[in-house]
Amino acid sequence: MQQSIVSQRLRRLFLLVLSLAVFRPQLLLARTLAPLTRTTLESLPGGQPPEGASSETEVPLPTVPTGESLSIGEANRGRLVNGVRLESDDLFLVRSQDENYGTAETIEATRRAVAEVSRRFPGRPRIVVGDLSKEHGGRIRPHKSHQSGRDIDLGFFLVGDAQPNHFVPLTAKNIDLARNWALIEALAAGDDVQYIFIDRRVQKLLRAYAEEVEKVPAKVLDGIFEYPRKGSLSTLVRHRRGHRNHLHVRFFSPQAVAAGEKYGAEALARLGKRVDPWQAVAFNHIVRKGDTLARIAARYKVELTDIMKWNRLKRRTVLQLGQTITLYRKVKVAAASASDVCHAGPRAVGCWRPGRS
Ligand SMILES: [Zn+2]
Repeated sequence: MQQSIVSQRLRRLFLLVLSLAVFRPQLLLARTLAPLTRTTLESLPGGQPPEGASSETEVPLPTVPTGESLSIGEANRGRLVNGVRLESDDLFLVRSQDENYGTAETIEATRRAVAEVSRRFPGRPRIVVGDLSKEHGGRIRPHKSHQSGRDIDLGFFLVGDAQPNHFVPLTAKNIDLARNWALIEALAAGDDVQYIFIDRRVQKLLRAYAEEVEKVPAKVLDGIFEYPRKGSLSTLVRHRRGHRNHLHVRFFSPQAVAAGEKYGAEALARLGKRVDPWQAVAFNHIVRKGDTLARIAARYKVELTDIMKWNRLKRRTVLQLGQTITLYRKVKVAAASASDVCHAGPRAVGCWRPGRS
């Protein structure tokens, strides 16, 4: 019996390491980046896509596929079309009745992760769900993001059998370490999650549990938790104020983002909503031998200063092999009308409204 518990644990650990190695190879490498300065991540890159990457030919109106989720624009300034609603059931206690829409991928990945926790810890109180996005996205106060169906706020699991219907601030006494760690493991096990915001005080408790009880190697945990460091942009779990009573998960939703690029303008025109014809799409470059920031900038035709800003790097930062550098390319959401087509030269600065972050 003891044997099988140990081997189960080893198997889970192996799967976690494997998935980290496959999907986030950079996490397994030791990092010796220069200390980064902290700014608000959510206000980071959105509005400033690389200059220069634009093409502007008029495209015939595409037909929006029915039922396919479209994540349009950015999480901080975006829209959602054909979102899927997350409703309360055996696993979820969903608080909001209007702001509970996400892309199909967001909902599916969330369901998969929470179902996995429930499989391992059956019969426990449900997870409390805060805001996702509105049916058609857009601003929800007080959030900055939650606009394009890729964000969800989840309450932490608490010890005991009481079912809270709100977010409870975590302490060493009320935190259900095993279940919250299982949730992070489940979220980390795919390549759906871009990052998770958790207050560093909670990260500290979870990290200690994972290391001491679950025997997860420190090197793996370094790739998962920002704690005890500060400002490690490429970890899965990152500190943000206000995330002591819930975690915020940002999903990639690649299909919905791609569909948003393709059909976004047309879909929004049908809904009578305005859309900015341009959007910045994030992508990653994994650092390989010989890379410097200047070379990466040249390769993707972006400004060096933009790369530094998007990644909070300094000019002298020594890049590590396998490190992830986030870049933005500018794409035009398929034009809804001729007036939306932006005619600009290769340095299409004029296509952006200034200060839109
Ligand atoms: Zn949130």
